[in-house]
Amino acid sequence: MDVVVIGAGLSGLTTAALLREAGADVQLVEAGPQVGGRIRAFRGPGNTSVLGDLGPTWVWPKYQPVVARWVASLGLETFEQFNEGDAVIQGYAPTALRQPLPGQDGMVRIVGGPSAIVDRLAERIDPATLRTSTPVTGLFEDGSQGVIVRLGSGEVITARRVVLSIPLRVAATTLQMPWATRELADLLRRTPTWMSTHAKAVALYDRPFWRQAGLSGRIASRAGPLLEAHDHSGKDGFPAAIFGFVGWPPNVRQREPDGLKRAILDQLSECLGPSAANPDDLIVQDWATNPHIVTDLDISEPADHPGIGPAVLRQPHLDGRIRFAVSEASEVSPGLIEGALAAGERAARELI
Ligand SMILES: Cc1cc2nc3c(=O)[nH]c(=O)nc-3n(C[C@H](O)[C@H](O)[C@H](O)COP(=O)(O)OP(=O)(O)OC[C@H]3O[C@@H](n4cnc5c(N)ncnc54)[C@H](O)[C@@H]3O)c2cc1C
Repeated sequence: MDVVVIGAGLSGLTTAALLREAGADVQLVEAGPQVGGRIRAFRGPGNTSVLGDLGPTWVWPKYQPVVARWVASLGLETFEQFNEGDAVIQGYAPTALRQPLPGQDGMVRIVGGPSAIVDRLAERIDPATLRTSTPVTGLFEDGSQGVIVRLGSGEVITARRVVLSIPLRVAATTLQMPWATRELADLLRRTPTWMSTHAKAVALYDRPFWRQAGLSGRIASRAGPLLEAHDHSGKDGFPAAIFGFVGWPPNVRQREPDGLKRAILDQLSECLGPSAANPDDLIVQDWATNPHIVTDLDISEPADHPGIGPAVLRQPHLDGRIRFAVSEASEVSPGLIEGALAAGERAARELI
């Protein structure tokens, strides 16, 4: 085995696809049952069309050259985030207010969501070289040549090179890495995983009824449970959807999942009108329950947006045999989709 890539999120998929195309013998090992990592879609019957994004939604190709290049090379289409009409501002005055709120310059959505990138990359990987539901538990030196990758089952794989495309805090807290210095282990532990403590709610409707009422679908709230919400409908308005970020802390929302859904529908009805009370579906994706993404440290120390981490995160370790390549390790847009693509490209380029 030339290379084992650990973690089949966007960064790991990028590395594995590029290495395979360069002729390397690559194995991609993923702890969870599916690829994509923090990128996930809610799909329609038959697991086909994407109805909503449960992880990231937005990219900024105007300011993100790596994203712009990948969107173009994968033949993907983008469209503006819908923001026409009034937003609803809730919890700042005794009754909710209506007023327009400016959108973000350059912020767009991908047709099919960021999952479209994952799907296209996954097609470029030989399924026989992908192992899902296979957590890695340790990385050990193998003589002077390679790396022993220990799996949760106790099985080991030996490779000349390893790319670690898993959240840095997850690596520090769940993997045995006896070769890592104390300084490196501390750095990994100190690097938060962007959005790992968040929960996202997607409500699907038969039509974007709020648009007829002159509303953009956007909500800014101090009352919650959604602190902000946005129109999440498809490019032409269908499927019609609203998504929001949940403000309840992880322990509260995990204790009261049904109460959370009721409170979300009450809030959406108050802000967007009574039709919001009866969605076709309401999905809550709580990332803080996924032990392959979040750690106790992330939950106890909520993070600011990650800055560019020290260069040691991008340097090879164990005589060049092990590299980190996850979004938070990137020197470009760390924590974001662009960071994941850039980190994955960089690892592949260096190994090639
Ligand atoms: C709710 C939410 C909203 C977001 N919104 C945006 C947005 O609008 N725009 C944007 O640019 N970014 C956004 N992000 C961030 C974006 O999703 C991430 O930057 C990107 O998906 C990270 O990809 P990655 O491959 O680097 O890491 P990850 O997606 O975290 O992939 C890591 C993979 O490693 C696997 N793994 C972990 N431990 C092991 C192990 N021991 N063995 C094997 N595999 C393991 C995990 O299961 C996972 O599949 C958002 C994230 C979330 C959660």
